[in-house]
This record gives sequence, C-alpha cells and structure tokens, in this order.
Amino acid sequence: MGPILVMGMSAAADMVAPSLPGAGLLNSKVLVLNRSYLPVHVTSVKRAFALLYQGVAKAVDEQYHTFDFDSWRDFSATAPDHEIVTTISWKIRVPRVIVLLFFDRLPKKEVKFTRHNVFERDKNTCQYCGQIFERNDLNLDHVVPRDRGGLTIWENVVCSCIPCNTRKGNRLPREAQMSLIRKPKRPKWRPFVQVTFSSPQHESWRHFVDLAYWNVELSD
Ligand SMILES: [Zn+2]
Repeated sequence: MGPILVMGMSAAADMVAPSLPGAGLLNSKVLVLNRSYLPVHVTSVKRAFALLYQGVAKAVDEQYHTFDFDSWRDFSATAPDHEIVTTISWKIRVPRVIVLLFFDRLPKKEVKFTRHNVFERDKNTCQYCGQIFERNDLNLDHVVPRDRGGLTIWENVVCSCIPCNTRKGNRLPREAQMSLIRKPKRPKWRPFVQVTFSSPQHESWRHFVDLAYWNVELSD
C-alpha cells in the first residue's frame, strides 16, 4: 500500500476510501507493460493510479496512445461510458493497461523447470532432428542418461521426438552418433502464460499479450 501514500492528495485518499462505490473497481486488474511494451505484471487499479501519479507509468488507451496522470484525467472527461472512479473533486477513468517508463527488462524471475517450460524453451522442436512436433509427439530426453549420472536439470533435459528418443536409447548422443542442434540452457525469460492465464483478462490486454507471445525470444 506504500505507493498510494505518495499520491499525497485528497483525491487519492478519496479513491481508496472503502465506502466509495469505486472501491471494488480499485482492486480490479491492470496489465503492466515494460518500456518495450511487453507485459511484465498484473497489478491493481489502485496501484496503477499510484504509478501514474508518481510519473513512473503512463496509461495506454485502446488506440495505444499514452497519457500521464493529468492528461489521463482530462481524457477521462471525454470517455463517460468507461469505468470511472469518482472522487470529491473529479472523475477519472480506470486504466486497463499501463506502460512503465523506466523499466526495460523483464523481471528476473526463475523460470520453473517444468515439462511445459522445456517445450517452450525448445519451441516444440526435437533437439536432435530439428523438426517441430505436436507436444503429444515429443518426449523429454536426458542428454546424459539418468542411470549414467545425468541430472534432471535445464542443462541436461531437451525435447526429443519419439523416433530420436528411441534411436538414442540409453546412450550419450555421441555414442548414438547424434548431436544436439542447440546446447540446452536455463532460460532467462519469464513465461507470459502466467500473465495470460493466471488472471482475468480484459479485451484491451489482448493485443499486448499476443504481441509478447509472438515476439519474445524464448531461448536466451
Ligand atoms: Zn527427432
């Protein structure tokens, strides 16, 4: 709740008053983009207003125009049909997307080592023959087999199609005269599916979530 105090104005205090009709709206969700317009987070309307007011974020409308706090307040007057938070002195539209002005990178967050995320990292591509498959037709392969000391870690597990997996069997790739198309590494990205599926979406988020899905470099 820290940032809301920074607003330090009576209107801001009004906006968090639980008795106001807008209180539920203030806890609803806003998509946060970094400076490259990649989704990095989902926050509350309340915090989004605080970030706008502090000048570290801008609101983004349906036409991808950006607004600072004052211009957003002015703009709100022209959009009477939208979700509005009312204060004693003025009405302000609820932003559904905000863009951070000073944040370039994706948050440094450990990517969970899951089957799904290995498929994401390897782009559903068999790391031996280089072909793309449906996920149902892919296995996870231990490059160094488990019973030869191979660990179940990012650096030793890759996507493999079933024929390659069978051909390699319980051998090292070189023993099977096979080679990896890419050295497996721990990915640095954060999977956007967290943003996509873990929170209720607004239609206005779709463009950015889709954009991120197609443009983000999945493997390092
Ligand atoms: Zn293969």
